[in-house]
Order: sequence, then structure tokens, then C-alpha cells
Amino acid sequence: MKALRYVTVGAAPEVVEIPIPKPGPGQVLLQVTAGGVCHSDDYVMGLSAEEYAAAGYPLPMTLGHEGAGIVHELGEGVSTVKVGDAVAVYGPWGCGYCRNCSMGHENYCTNAAELGITPPGLGTDGSMAEYMIVDDPRHLVPLGDLDPVKNVSLTDAGLTPYHAIKRSLPKLGAGTHAVVIGSGGLGHVGIQILKALSGATVIVLDVNDEKLELAKHVGADITMISDGDAAAKILELTDGKGVDAVFDFVGAKPTIPLAIAVAASEADVTIVGIGGGAVEFGFGTIKYDVAVRIPYWGYRNELIEVLDLARAGKIDVEIQQYSLDDGPKAYADLASSSIRGRAVIVP
Ligand code: NAD
Ligand code: ZN
Ligand code: ZN
Repeated sequence: MKALRYVTVGAAPEVVEIPIPKPGPGQVLLQVTAGGVCHSDDYVMGLSAEEYAAAGYPLPMTLGHEGAGIVHELGEGVSTVKVGDAVAVYGPWGCGYCRNCSMGHENYCTNAAELGITPPGLGTDGSMAEYMIVDDPRHLVPLGDLDPVKNVSLTDAGLTPYHAIKRSLPKLGAGTHAVVIGSGGLGHVGIQILKALSGATVIVLDVNDEKLELAKHVGADITMISDGDAAAKILELTDGKGVDAVFDFVGAKPTIPLAIAVAASEADVTIVGIGGGAVEFGFGTIKYDVAVRIPYWGYRNELIEVLDLARAGKIDVEIQQYSLDDGPKAYADLASSSIRGRAVIVP
């Protein structure tokens, strides 16, 4: 089968021919229908050889931590899904056994590191291939009649903002304000989740006019360029009070201080992007009772909820479709910021 693999540190991923894997006991083999392209892959491929090895990633590694497919073959003992089922893959695999996993919080599994459990595409071979192994049917969610190509990115670009936003919803009633920084793959879905679930006025910042146009298209109330004047403009819009929640889908050196500067007392600042920024936290650096969070991905049950939001017609991922052969181009387009919404690879 064909697979898009990261083969050489620092080089572009390559389309290679490898054998179709066999599902072991308890595993499921999917025929992949779609795989989404995330900026985190670009981050991983930007690591030095030392950093990459220290993070425990193998080489070669098939990319793709957003996946959807059709159940193709069952490993011994698997009975909860059947051949032919259309499914989405829950990516932050845990042990299924620790307290966090027992609540569906597999993204915060306390045993995964010790057991060597890693997500598909981020340590284990991922979805950018004609077939992929899923370690346990527990990590599959029924897609039903949702289009896999349109909806595959809900497994990360939907689930991650959903998880981030859901915990701030009590602060986002009518008359409140939320700021979204970065209207890319995650951000443009986050805007729709905020509009669907909260009463907040949604203010969106980006450095790119086309991304701001996308933000407007998916429901942003106010858009502005993310620059040195943005904080003052946001404070003026809120009569000097600041906003009730900020979701930073960039997480870079300039965006985190901006997020802090516009947060009102008791606001939530949620940093989702891994852009290398950091926050100084102490009296005098931040308004009273601001909570700063750095969430990772989302819970198993939340993926079911996100897919239900799509089924209800409340969120719609903007996609740009590529073949597996064009996979390297999808990553080049992501790096040059020329993707509107999410790039999706269809084997
Ligand atoms: P993307 O490339 O699709 O979108 C990034 C957006 O940010 C683009 O629209 C870009 O123009 C904009 N941007 C860049 N610099 C900016 C700035 N200074 N101010 C405002 N906007 C700016 O990326 P994505 O796939 O949506 O991922 C976003 C970030 O989230 C990445 O850092 C990714 O690694 C991270 N991520 C984190 C998690 C998690 O669990 N915490 C999960 C998935 C992705
Ligand atoms: Zn991701
Ligand atoms: Zn666990």
C-alpha cells in the first residue's frame, strides 16, 4: 500500500510503498477514507534530530493523527465493530485502565508514557496511508452518514477547540466576549463552536487577511489583524474591562502576552497553539483570578459530541482536498499558510 511517511529528519515527507499491516489480537484494520493535515505535524517535522529522538518518535513514521475509515479486518477477539462500519479515529490513545482513561480522559492517561502508547501519526503509524491499524475498537467512533472527507478533521481540529471551549462555557453567557487568535484549521472550527454553544461576541485575530475573511465566513462577529494595536482595540471594544475568554490557537511569543493583556478579571486564557511562547504568571502580571490553561486534544466522549454538532449542521469544516501522492504538497501549502481551513488527504 501507499503511505505518506516522515523518513529523514528535516526533509519533506515521502510517499512510499509498504506492506498492508495485519491487525493483531484486539486491533482493527481500517481502510482509510481520509486523513487530516495538522500544524502539529509541521512542528514535529521541524524538530532537530536530537529533539525528535528525545520525544520518542520513530523513523520512518506514517503521518496523520486525524483519521477516518471503513473497518476492513478485525483482530482476534474484536466484536464491538464490524467489517464495513464507517468510523472516525479518536487519536489520543491511553491505556483504558487508569482513572483518567476510565472517565474517557485518555488524552491525560497516566500510564501511556510508561507503556509506550502513542497516538497514530505521533509515534505510531498514522492515517496517511491506504490502511491503518487502530489499537483498540474503543478508539473508534461511528461516523454514520457523515462524509469522512469533510469531517475527518473534527477528530482534532474539532475536538481540540471543543474541549478547550467547553470548560469555559459557564463564563460565556449573553453579553460576554471571547477572543480567538488564529483562524486556521483549529481556529475556524473553534469560532463555529463558540457561535453554536455560547452567547459571546466572538472577536477573531489573525495575521493574514484571507484567514480573517474565512473567520467572517464561518461566523466571527469582529475580525482584526493581530498586531501591536490589537490589545488596545479589544479593550476599547469592551469598555476597558477585557474579554471573558481567550483561545490562543497560535501560542507564539507575541500572541500569549496579547491574550493575557485582553483577559478580564476571572477570565479564562486557554493556550492551544504550541508556537513557543510562554506566560509570566504572578501578582501584577495578570488580572485577578485569570485562569491559564494548556489543554491537550480532548476526551473520548467529546469526539462523539463534536460529531453530533456536525450532524446537527452547526459546524462545517472548510477543506482543501489532496491525494496521497500530493501529500508532500499539502504540508508545503500548510507551511506557507496557503490553506483555507484544513487540508485533507484522501487515499
Ligand atoms: P494552522 O496553520 O491551520 O493555523 C494557524 C493560524 O494562525 C493561521 O491562520 C495563521 O495565519 C495564524 N497565525 C500565525 N501567527 C499568528 C499571530 N502571530 N497572530 C495571529 N494569528 C497567527 O494551524 P492549526 O493546525 O490550526 O494548529 C494551530 C496550533 O495548535 C498549532 O500550534 C498546532 O501545533 C497546535 N495544536 C495543538 C493541539 C493541542 O492539543 N494543544 C492540537 C492540535 C493543534
Ligand atoms: Zn493535531
Ligand atoms: Zn490510562
